[in-house]
Amino acid sequence: MADFNYYEILGVTKDASADEIKSAYRKKAMQYHPDRFSTKPEAERKEAEETFKKINHAYQVLSDPQKKAAYDQYGSEDGPQFSGGGFSGGGGFGFDDIFSNIFSQFGGRRESNANSPRRGDDIQIRVTIEFMESVRGVQRDLKFRRRETCTSCKGTGAKNPSSVRTCSRCKGSGTIRTTTNSIFMQMVQDVQCPDCRGKGKIVTEPCADCQGKGVVHNMRTVHAKIPAGISDNQSIAYQGDGDCGLNGGVAGNLIVVVNVKPHALYQRRNNDLLFEMPISYVTATLGGEVEVPTPYGVTKYKIPEGTQTGAVFKLKGKGMKSVNRDLYGDIYFTAKVVTPTKLTRAQRDALAAFAASLAPSQEESIKKFADLSKKE
Ligand SMILES: [Zn+2]
Ligand SMILES: [Zn+2]
Repeated sequence: MADFNYYEILGVTKDASADEIKSAYRKKAMQYHPDRFSTKPEAERKEAEETFKKINHAYQVLSDPQKKAAYDQYGSEDGPQFSGGGFSGGGGFGFDDIFSNIFSQFGGRRESNANSPRRGDDIQIRVTIEFMESVRGVQRDLKFRRRETCTSCKGTGAKNPSSVRTCSRCKGSGTIRTTTNSIFMQMVQDVQCPDCRGKGKIVTEPCADCQGKGVVHNMRTVHAKIPAGISDNQSIAYQGDGDCGLNGGVAGNLIVVVNVKPHALYQRRNNDLLFEMPISYVTATLGGEVEVPTPYGVTKYKIPEGTQTGAVFKLKGKGMKSVNRDLYGDIYFTAKVVTPTKLTRAQRDALAAFAASLAPSQEESIKKFADLSKKE
């Protein structure tokens, strides 16, 4: 229950709409915002502060349909009033309620406690390896920088345990209440105490090794065992090898992202390797043995007679190793029949004689194509 008129303090009439009340409130709250009076004489400042509180109180009531109805009927948001009892102050209504309410309405947030455990960050480093290294697996020593708890002060930042005192500004709570202006309204917020940065404690004599930060940055080396079968952009996680946590939080991870250089010949698809292989015109025609490259050495392969361009052949188990299991993909190579060039006169004559001897059925796809092209 308040000793002032809620409508009057906001400068609206009793039949003002919710929107009118809201905009009147914003205007008034801005006008009497404590920040505007911070340099004014104390009496004026105090008065503005009182008015500001009243404005907030009035709005809290008039913006709540239930409380507004009670106020309109009984002159108090708490309903019928009784004199002489313990009803002073009314309804457990506090300043905090207003602000938390304003806050939840406008998406404000309070800063997280500076003393709560925080997980360390993950550190990502990249390493580029050759394709053949991804086939066999490879080991690399990789340097990286990470945040570690200072061993001299065990993370306290203090030279010794007696060089820590409670922060006088926030009395050890780590937060102070501040008021800030935004474009359309003022906000009151508990923010981190700037003196102790929310720690509630102040180090009087900092640790020399970490300049009072409690953490140091060190170069470390990870002996990375990159497994056979790793593919481009795959990563290896080293749990807990990243930045140290704060306030007892766990350390982050070290993530080694592996980039595999492309190979001139092999194209990887899952664990299979693909490539196109030129086959001589004669071998393709008569059939015969060809030497097929694999990452594990050359393998001989028998090409059947009458092999056409585009025919795909498979070498089982000659592909990439699966990175997690002892399984291997396959090789698929596609035949590309090579047409001979720069023939000699004699070769031309021989080929012409050969061509004359061919029956249409001996060039199946030419015959098929001709038949199709005659169709309507
Ligand atoms: Zn230290
Ligand atoms: Zn403080």
